[in-house]
Amino acid sequence: MKLLCDEMLKGLARWLRTSGYDVAMEPDGRPDRQLVARALAEGRVLLTRDRFLLQIRDAMRVTVLLEGNGVESCAREITRKLDIDWLLNPFTRCSLCNSPLIEAEPSPQWPPDIRKAYRCPCCNKFYWQGGHVERMRQKLECWQTEFR
Ligand SMILES: [Zn+2]
Repeated sequence: MKLLCDEMLKGLARWLRTSGYDVAMEPDGRPDRQLVARALAEGRVLLTRDRFLLQIRDAMRVTVLLEGNGVESCAREITRKLDIDWLLNPFTRCSLCNSPLIEAEPSPQWPPDIRKAYRCPCCNKFYWQGGHVERMRQKLECWQTEFR
């Protein structure tokens, strides 16, 4: 399942990418019509909290309307509505730009206890096992048990 989030759902999009889902976003300010067209063209489910968007032709076919406020409640809602698996394939995609991560060449600049890391080939962000990733993984595990 491929997804497309509107600009109000950036936080949710990052968590879904962290779980391994392919989640596209359009640059801010794009007309809703363009979001619907992209979802149709690429076979993506469009997530939005904007009910006016449903008035656009064909929007009903691709859109899931979220009622929750904030990341956690939206996460809970799509778990039910779309059967989201929060442990699908964690930490395989860049949470910022959605690109699949590649294994990074070890570098002397890494913190001393890091042996393996991943890099985004697009925006060059590094991901390694550390406190931050561990906390994110715990959150995904928590959502997986609580919401499903
Ligand atoms: Zn990236």
